[in-house]
Amino acid sequence: MSAIADNLQAVLSRIARAAEAAGRSPLSINLLAVSKTKPLSDVLEAAAAGQCAFGENYVQEGVEKLLAVGQEKKLEWHFIGPLQSNKTRLVAEHFDWVHSVDRLKVAERLSAQRPADLPPLQICLQVNVSGEASKSGCQPADVLALCAAIAALPHLQLRGLMTIPEPVDDIAAQRLPFRQLRELAAQVQATGIALDTLSMGMSHDLEAAIAEGATLVRIGTAIFGERNYA
Ligand SMILES: *Cc1c(COP(=O)(O)O)cnc(C)c1O
Repeated sequence: MSAIADNLQAVLSRIARAAEAAGRSPLSINLLAVSKTKPLSDVLEAAAAGQCAFGENYVQEGVEKLLAVGQEKKLEWHFIGPLQSNKTRLVAEHFDWVHSVDRLKVAERLSAQRPADLPPLQICLQVNVSGEASKSGCQPADVLALCAAIAALPHLQLRGLMTIPEPVDDIAAQRLPFRQLRELAAQVQATGIALDTLSMGMSHDLEAAIAEGATLVRIGTAIFGERNYA
């Protein structure tokens, strides 16, 4: 097996062990392979090993890769990076999911720009639950109103919430923001909006996220190795 295939197996084992420890089915957790900054050959290697969902953070890089891969491989492409409203069109035209919607203007543009012959764009609202320094993510107090507004847009399908907490080492501390996200999703569901996705957990904290109910973990480093931003 290639290094990437080995790493994928190791990540799937971590997911299965964490699911078992939480009394959950491993099948209730989807793996998104985050391929940002990595070459197309890495994506193809992971795809050959059976991985079908890929996450990208930069519009141009992601679109180049997904066009190069082509449609026949049936891969699923998730945009997970910060999204400025002047960059929404390419995302609406080419991706299947967007996890990083954090304001209504971006959602409205994605809906308006989604081509009519494609299925609705699958959306997660990004929430800044732990008050991290990063500017991305809406405030928890705005989640209910934003979900109601996004759910009403015609070419989007609101699937759930996403968060990127501050990195911490202690698993109990890691679980706190994930628990807050789960509780926010429950509040949204209580208003009658069906959500089926909690996009949370990365290479260093996927166990904590799964313990708190993650249905989709976004894993880069543990599959593709360290990123080099030089
Ligand atoms: C880069 C990135 C990931 C993957 O992070 P790793 O620590 O490499 O697993 C997940 N989610 C988002 C939003 C990212 O930008």
